[in-house]
Amino acid sequence: MTTTAGRQAELIERAQALFPGGVNSPVRAFRSVGRPPLLLEAGDGPRVRDADGRWYLDFIGSWGPAILGHADPAVVGAVVEATGRGFALGATSPAEIELGAAIQAAMPSLERLRFTSSGTEAVMSAIRLARGATGRDLIVKFGGGYHGHADAMLVDAGSGLATLAMPGSAGVTEGAARDTVVVPYGDAEAVTAAFATHSGRIAAVIVEPVAANVGVIPPPAGFLEALRSLTEANGALLIFDEVITGFRVAHGGAQARYGVTPDLTTLGKIVGGGMPVGAYGGRADLMSNIAPEGGVYQAGTLSGHPLTMAAGLATLRALDAGSYEQLEATGATLEAGLREAIARSGREASIARVGSLLTLFFLAEAPRNAEAALAADREAYARFFGAMLDAGVLLPPSQFEAWFTSLAHGPREVEATLNAARAALRA
Ligand code: PMP
Repeated sequence: MTTTAGRQAELIERAQALFPGGVNSPVRAFRSVGRPPLLLEAGDGPRVRDADGRWYLDFIGSWGPAILGHADPAVVGAVVEATGRGFALGATSPAEIELGAAIQAAMPSLERLRFTSSGTEAVMSAIRLARGATGRDLIVKFGGGYHGHADAMLVDAGSGLATLAMPGSAGVTEGAARDTVVVPYGDAEAVTAAFATHSGRIAAVIVEPVAANVGVIPPPAGFLEALRSLTEANGALLIFDEVITGFRVAHGGAQARYGVTPDLTTLGKIVGGGMPVGAYGGRADLMSNIAPEGGVYQAGTLSGHPLTMAAGLATLRALDAGSYEQLEATGATLEAGLREAIARSGREASIARVGSLLTLFFLAEAPRNAEAALAADREAYARFFGAMLDAGVLLPPSQFEAWFTSLAHGPREVEATLNAARAALRA
């Protein structure tokens, strides 16, 4: 049984007094799974340890960055080594060039790029750039797409908003929301209609090429290609938000996996190796609009932080073609085992997976858009989450977040997870 007695309970109580919901990001509050939140204080490979000393097999994976597993020695070593040089010095450092070039080598569509300190900032900046470069105001996004917490993106968004069943956020002005057009994910006809309705006014279409913030939804065949041709035909930009999918679904991200090249890409998570990070980049002619070369302003005191660059570079250097084969194989074994466990239990549940991103939906069929995903049985997920946690497996504390597997998740970890899942689904 999970024990929340002792040190963990005491710390959680202090956190509750200090932070809204006891947390510094909403999903950590475990609100939708009916359990007290965990207070985690250490990670090692595929495992994390709570403040009472209990270890869990972890599928949160730092919400994406931990593709090598936690506290990977090469990453830790690189960061420790970098600390001796005095953190951010307020000018460009060699490490920024190294990591920038490593990203570009994997994703050639980033002819030029900029680092930020979070995915939210990367998206905010890419949208400002799209508006500045096209002279247009409107942005098309997809229902359930999460692109960070910039005002204009908090419309019909996934992630924490889906978890808390919030359609949007208080404090976002009508003006900020008015310039965001929302259409259903996977629906190219709805995008065609939006271009017809708002002719000459759409600056960009932003999309998670694999939707991963209402649970995982792979792009339907031809969808990303349709977005590419529709934006091109209408003088708008295509932005792939690869904060999750970059270096996750393939070395070159979703754009490599699906063979569709966006004008702009946003990154985060893995490229920072677990340190705070974001990046955006794309066509050189577009990026030359960024200050000081052009009139679109964007900045950051700690952008390109040396510790982040060190962690990111060590992470990217550890990833090769074999890594993605391994992630795919681990994901496939997990998927097959979960499908079998679901079938044997007779439960209404389904699996969606792209590489090392997976969701078990309590829905008879894997959803094709956010509306379908949000109909999943949250209570069934909460019970499943609790049973898994009691068996020592930490899943994302929301039906609407992806499970992240890492290179540290081997056959033993998969088998332990499947054993726990068989029992949890049976109960
Ligand atoms: N875009 C996507 C696709 C994301 O999943 C997230 C965060 N999970 C963000 C943007 C925002 O990134 P951050 O939390 O670093 O601001």
